[in-house]
Amino acid sequence: MVYKEVKSMKKKIELLAPAGNFEKLKTSVLYGADAVYLSGKQYGMRAFAGNFSDEELIEAKEYCKNNKVKLYATVNIIAHNHDMKGIEDHLSFLNDIKVDAVIISDLGIMNMSLKKFPGLPIHISTQFSAMNYHTVNFLYNLGAKRIILPRELSLNEIKEIKANTKAELEVFVHGAMCMTYSGRCMLSFHTKNRDPNKGECNQTCRFKYEIGSTDIPEGFYIEEEAKTGTYFFNSKDLCLIEHIPEISESGVSSIKIEGRMKTQGYLSTVVKTYHDALSLYYKNKKTYKYNPEWLEELSKVSNRGYTTYRFNDIAVQADQNYRSGKADSTHDVAGIVKEIIDRKYLVIEVKSAFHTGDEIEIIIPEKRTLDATVGEIMDVLGNKVERTNPNQIVLIKHYKSVVPGSIIRIKK
Ligand code: SF4
Repeated sequence: MVYKEVKSMKKKIELLAPAGNFEKLKTSVLYGADAVYLSGKQYGMRAFAGNFSDEELIEAKEYCKNNKVKLYATVNIIAHNHDMKGIEDHLSFLNDIKVDAVIISDLGIMNMSLKKFPGLPIHISTQFSAMNYHTVNFLYNLGAKRIILPRELSLNEIKEIKANTKAELEVFVHGAMCMTYSGRCMLSFHTKNRDPNKGECNQTCRFKYEIGSTDIPEGFYIEEEAKTGTYFFNSKDLCLIEHIPEISESGVSSIKIEGRMKTQGYLSTVVKTYHDALSLYYKNKKTYKYNPEWLEELSKVSNRGYTTYRFNDIAVQADQNYRSGKADSTHDVAGIVKEIIDRKYLVIEVKSAFHTGDEIEIIIPEKRTLDATVGEIMDVLGNKVERTNPNQIVLIKHYKSVVPGSIIRIKK
């Protein structure tokens, strides 16, 4: 299968996906991630993702090992003095369970890790804002294996950095953007006393503002704001699906999908789409052609509009979404296939209500998405039902090639 072909190819760029909890980890792996990043219950910059207890981290490492997927653990808060004792214990634990790398942004934590756990590979978080090869080489010479570059770099800058360093590089290709350099924002601290550098961001940049200035005769920076206010700080989401060949040839080792808070439905679509594009590219670089259906797929899941941001050197006003701070999608996840009974029935965990007769799409790992119409629905007692409810377990007929973990999607 394509998935296996690509996994076995040498020098393929790594597809790195988020895992906010164990179910999401399984989804990222099932849909084609070569590596996942996740966090323990503390120190990992996404305080409101489910995250992993120590027992779950041990299980996650085992699961990844069995599936030949790498596991990177984030320890990328900007630490205060009182955080450090707990961090040493946590690094010691991650070292013991042999995670493939820890993601760090704080030099004190890096120093501690290098001294106490020299065998534990270090990836420098995007939060560090390593914007040039001097900084990248400084971190590499200190002992970092990989540098995760800021989202604010262009392709030309990335290539120049690679030409001047031996460090592995990782870049973001998809997901939410900050209005600041990542890791340099205190907005939600000021509005809600929540520390964004400990993963508690409340998305203050997505709020609506009326921004006036006494230095501008009309009062407002943009005339429209005077009437309606505007989502002034709200960046569109990054999407580089059209640029797989340039990124793959830039010399970076890994491409990363943002979103430890995102749902399994989101992950299945985004990871699969980038995996499909990479599969096609590495199958035959000469005949590779961008498929516009990939962007259509990505538009079905939660997004704030897409931008390539500074990829082609300059950022413009159109990279911002002034009209709405909300992420929107054209489709909902109706359910997740939990198991298959006797090749006759799909057991579905319902996420959004659906009915007999509804048109659905079934996203299947390693296969084309299937269009179908919901036929008979049964509850777990075998009673026929016309309509499902969220969190209910129901049975529908089995469709060939659907496997556990497939996602059922429905147009809104
Ligand atoms: S408020 Fe916006 S810019 Fe600041 S950390 Fe949160 S998402 Fe990023």
